[in-house]
Amino acid sequence: MEDTVLVVNCGSSSIKLALFDGKHRKLASALAERLNQNGAFARIDGDQQTIPLKPDASQDEALEALVTAFRDRKVMASVPAAIGHRVVHGGETFREAVLIDEGVVSAIEDCAGLAPLHNPVNLSGIRATLTLFPDVPQAAVFDTAFHQTLPKRAFLYALPESWYRNWGVRRYGFHGTSHAFMALEAARLLGKTQATTSVISAHLGNGCSITAIRDGISVDTSMGLTPLEGLVMGTRSGDVDPGLFDFLRGKGVGAEEVHRVLNQESGLLGLSGQSNDMRSLCELADHGHEPSQTAIDVFCFRLARYIGAMMASLRHLDALVFTGGIGENSARVRQETVSHLRLMGFKLSEELNKHHGEISDGRIESADSRFPVLVIPTNEELVIAREASRLAGAADPS
Ligand code: AMP
Repeated sequence: MEDTVLVVNCGSSSIKLALFDGKHRKLASALAERLNQNGAFARIDGDQQTIPLKPDASQDEALEALVTAFRDRKVMASVPAAIGHRVVHGGETFREAVLIDEGVVSAIEDCAGLAPLHNPVNLSGIRATLTLFPDVPQAAVFDTAFHQTLPKRAFLYALPESWYRNWGVRRYGFHGTSHAFMALEAARLLGKTQATTSVISAHLGNGCSITAIRDGISVDTSMGLTPLEGLVMGTRSGDVDPGLFDFLRGKGVGAEEVHRVLNQESGLLGLSGQSNDMRSLCELADHGHEPSQTAIDVFCFRLARYIGAMMASLRHLDALVFTGGIGENSARVRQETVSHLRLMGFKLSEELNKHHGEISDGRIESADSRFPVLVIPTNEELVIAREASRLAGAADPS
């Protein structure tokens, strides 16, 4: 057995694998997409050749093909020392990552009602990997776990209390591994300990969420019962008036259709009518496409409002942190967002915001900004690998 750690992220139509060495340096990654539909394909990153798959390959088949490809290409010589799985919803059962056993599998199954699109596929990845590597310790790392420290005033909706008690209707929050990584990395960059560091962490990718982290723990977050609430996202609306459902019913649009549109046809895509991809929208806006500029404006303004809202949960602020594909790469989004926050004292340096990767360690605020502003690349796979090795180490005293 070698001391590598395999990270498995099994989604509804894709699987991502990453392999780390014992020092948590990434050795390889691989991807299978379009699973369970016509046109499934898989490849190891950086490898020109695709991995042969049946056109309608399932998660199990793709996982086996990817693992075999890792072995055939000598990326993974034998079995890994630990395996970490991303699991979307841990409900109120899981406050941290755990080693997987039968009880954990059935508890993840129990949470499936809260994440019907995600937990069942996460579980099928877990089951397939348990079959392939029955003797390797495997850990489940939950997107929701980091937010289990939210106080009641932040996680309760103003709904009948029995909905929470009987059905678990509450704010859970997501992207927890990314926000946890921000808490750690921001503390490191600022030369502080995580336990004394308070940041607002904005994870802006295709999905977007923002979290207030006070003294290292999550105390408020924008995603709720499901990952639909909060910020404007690629195809998700974020916050809307719940009265919308009734209003649209009057127009003949049923709840299922509204739900589908809010998840798949709203957000940047809905507003621009063109794309869910921020980079494309910036290009379109530069060429005078007004709806694309409007989509960017709504995105940035909603984000700025949420940054203001997150301040209510903090006693002091060490930094505002941007991460995710948009947060890490779009100087325009960062600039436009922070321009709404002048009254609070946030100000960016134009130069650092554009060239932070080359000329600073991620700090992009101007000298007269009241608060530091950081850009930190997220690394959820690394967090999962670290958690899996930590737990596997605990399981194996040798
Ligand atoms: P993620 O889900 O974290 O991979 O982020 C995907 C989002 O990041 C998409 O909307 C991309 O368009 C966006 N993105 C990536 N690079 C850039 C860039 N250079 N400028 C603007 N948006 C970007």
